[in-house]
Amino acid sequence: MSRDKTTFDLMVMGAGMAGMAAALFASNRGLSVALAGSVGGIDFSTGLIDLLAVHPLEEGRVWDDPWACIEALREHSPQHPYARLDSGTMARAMDEFCAFLGDMGMPMEGHARKNTRILTAMGTAKHTFRAPRSMWAGAEALSGKAPCLLVDFQGLKGFSAVQIREVAGADWPGLRTLRVPFPGWKEELYPEHMATALHEPALRRALADTVRPHLAEARFVGFPALLGREQAEVVRADLETLLGARVFEIPTLPPSLAGSRLRAAFDRGLPGRGVHLYSQRMVLSQQPLPDGGFRLGLGKERIETTIQAKAVILATGRFFGKGLVADRGRVREAVFDLPLYQPGKRDSWHSPEFYDPRGHELNNTGVETDNALRPLNDHGKAVHPRLFAAGSILAHQDWMRQKCGAGLAITTAFQAVASAREALKPTAVKPAPPSRATPEEIPTDGTAPHGSESSQSLNSHSFLIQSQIISARTNRSGK
Ligand SMILES: Cc1cc2nc3c(=O)[nH]c(=O)nc-3n(C[C@H](O)[C@H](O)[C@H](O)COP(=O)(O)OP(=O)(O)OC[C@H]3O[C@@H](n4cnc5c(N)ncnc54)[C@H](O)[C@@H]3O)c2cc1C
Repeated sequence: MSRDKTTFDLMVMGAGMAGMAAALFASNRGLSVALAGSVGGIDFSTGLIDLLAVHPLEEGRVWDDPWACIEALREHSPQHPYARLDSGTMARAMDEFCAFLGDMGMPMEGHARKNTRILTAMGTAKHTFRAPRSMWAGAEALSGKAPCLLVDFQGLKGFSAVQIREVAGADWPGLRTLRVPFPGWKEELYPEHMATALHEPALRRALADTVRPHLAEARFVGFPALLGREQAEVVRADLETLLGARVFEIPTLPPSLAGSRLRAAFDRGLPGRGVHLYSQRMVLSQQPLPDGGFRLGLGKERIETTIQAKAVILATGRFFGKGLVADRGRVREAVFDLPLYQPGKRDSWHSPEFYDPRGHELNNTGVETDNALRPLNDHGKAVHPRLFAAGSILAHQDWMRQKCGAGLAITTAFQAVASAREALKPTAVKPAPPSRATPEEIPTDGTAPHGSESSQSLNSHSFLIQSQIISARTNRSGK
């Protein structure tokens, strides 16, 4: 692929779970794709792929069957993004995403219609839909309460086998712990260094030799998720052979290696599928074009490259990804200044109780869309016929509490790509002029581009309209 390519079918804004998934799905379908973005939640995630586990939030009901949970959610919360997707499409999205990870040497495990309970570093059990194979034996150990040895390392911070046993061990008498030195290391331990070191077969043998005398009746051995930098399965399988017991990883606290393995899989796999990666580059300006496409300025702090795309998927996340920014009075979408669903006055953003089971109203903030996942203007119409949104930037979902983070990102990315392909078909309705787009280049931080007075005034105008939209929505949504 030429480094000079500057026109694409699709620009994916965002290199988190949603952006990576969208780029994968689009390239699998033959679209030429550009992807820009910096660090997202994927780098901090556990490596587990949740689909949906908790509904309704106020009851904290945890479901074993994610699909039944989704049905109940659709009925009860018709504004949730899952209500715009059908379950067959969602299942295909999850399968295609996990097949890619398998191709990249990161096989995922799970049941067709059942969430699996995975042991966490807190000692709790997390209901998830798909888990890396390197964590899978832990689910079997937990469900069967089998004799199990949890291993941690002298000098490694943030992971304590004893803490896990204190929480999980009450009804698991065969759960024991062991703290060992990491073979050959005396200084402070860092997970990245340990993971890299474990690619060395001699070190794995030394580790197995250290643990083996303590196995006793243990049939399972759990380690923190640092068994290998990128392809944990190789390290895990070898330790399993060396120990003669089932070996599994336990997801660690963020930032976790299991999350960065996901990112690494995409960084390795997407370019080979023709995706043009603008790593660590952000979309700094956008300009809708009369032909229905977009001109986009990319760079770190100033525009370094300008590209054109026929369609855009906005997967810039919420506050963590910087897709949304908040000031004292309101929340704003950072790239297009799109209208947002958001709570009213600032004192209603958060519940006074941090652990309020209903969550915080701010966590439902985001972009509202039609069924094709096109962001809506204040009249309930698509802002632009070829602009789509996916992932956590979508309104009316609280992925963290509902346990649907990666699933929401993957399935809405799938739907957004399907909609973009539809919009790009030659038979598609000719794009109408965007409803709030301006013909001038608009910087994405709400400031004027350098030396452009006309853009500044147009942008101010856009903000004026936006303020009115926000206040209307604020009144509507204020609860
Ligand atoms: C600590 C933590 C733990 C998690 N654990 C789990 C878990 O166990 N299971 C699970 O299913 N999910 C988990 N997740 C959630 C999951 O990883 C995703 O973060 C989440 O689904 C949101 O993904 P996203 O792609 O929508 O947004 P984000 O991950 O926030 O990504 C947004 C992306 O947009 C980019 N961006 C922003 N502005 C621009 C711009 N102007 N131009 C270009 N790019 C831009 C950012 O740089 C970033 O790459 C976890 C997340 C976190 C943070």
